[in-house]
Amino acid sequence: MAHNRRNTSDSQAGSEFPDSAWMALFRRRILAWFRRNARDLPWRRTRDPYAIWVSEIMLQQTQVVTVIGYFERFLTAFPSIADLAAADEQEVLRLWEGLGYYRRARQLHAAARVIVAEHQGRFPREPQQIRALPGIGRYTAGAIASIGWDAREPILEANTIRVFSRLLAYRGDPQKNAGQQRLWEFATRVLPKREIGLFNQALMELGSEICVPRGPRCDQCPVRTLCPTFRLGLQDEIPLPKRKTKYEDRHEAAVIVRRGDRVVLRRCGPDERWAGLWDFPRFPVPARPGDSLSQQLERASKQLTGLQVRLGRQLATIKHGVTRFRITLDCYEADWTGGRLGRNRDIRWVEIAALEDYPLSVTGRQISRLIPPASL
Ligand code: SF4
Repeated sequence: MAHNRRNTSDSQAGSEFPDSAWMALFRRRILAWFRRNARDLPWRRTRDPYAIWVSEIMLQQTQVVTVIGYFERFLTAFPSIADLAAADEQEVLRLWEGLGYYRRARQLHAAARVIVAEHQGRFPREPQQIRALPGIGRYTAGAIASIGWDAREPILEANTIRVFSRLLAYRGDPQKNAGQQRLWEFATRVLPKREIGLFNQALMELGSEICVPRGPRCDQCPVRTLCPTFRLGLQDEIPLPKRKTKYEDRHEAAVIVRRGDRVVLRRCGPDERWAGLWDFPRFPVPARPGDSLSQQLERASKQLTGLQVRLGRQLATIKHGVTRFRITLDCYEADWTGGRLGRNRDIRWVEIAALEDYPLSVTGRQISRLIPPASL
């Protein structure tokens, strides 16, 4: 089977598209392999575009095994688009808690409201209308439409970028414009006439189970004999590795301000990490010479909340990462000694027993579990 290679001076291109005989064989093999090997996942038992949409959003940046439980709980709480649209954002975030990238949840919620307001609560079928919804880009729209009703839509995401790069022996950077154009074009050309949804899922499954980033399982791959990267032994070089993230270290302090059986929580603003979620007052650890750390944290707490506090013991240090930041977070107890909260409803006293009802950041939840039992 010919995998034609263009004699080209475009070193980024690396390969021409395979011929139609290659395409036909590839489609047959990949579909047959998927029929035998598809994992039984809850979102694969339905063609309801709403359920597929929720699964696709959750699967962005999150592993399948983690998503399964969240997906089932979410659909139990909000079985339809109308139920999701009618929910309070806090409820939605509470169900999303721990999945991270909370913007996804807020956009899902916002999009459900658009669908109710503009499409009578039915998921739209027009590509433009789908892509106009908050949080839905070209990939997600293609996944929903192809899996939901076999629309002839290609998909390109982390798994298929890797699979296609290898099938084309593409030596350029697949994240750059030229690479994206080439791979989207291949994703379109390679589509079969029927069973588009199945085919797209098969490609993603191949990428997640066989054609994995490091040490792909070429010996089990159904398209091994069609793959130039396998033939050339270039699996470690294709696709071009992503540039390494440069991490920045940050030192922060969280303060559990307590008065009896209540503590102070603050809702993160729209431009902050964890926008919409609740957290304990948190400050960069200052490095100002002169004042002690406790004086500085007491002053910062007063500025933020209006309350006078006396800093107590350090309860723990939590190390965690958020995007490119590696954060060392020192957690302190503090007693309320005077003053009242202002009118800002995003800073409030919360009963310790009611913390479970609030959507908290992951570290916020960890901090809530540090509160000594004696105060419960
Ligand atoms: S043969 Fe190997 S590199 Fe090629 S598609 Fe299959 S798993 Fe990926």
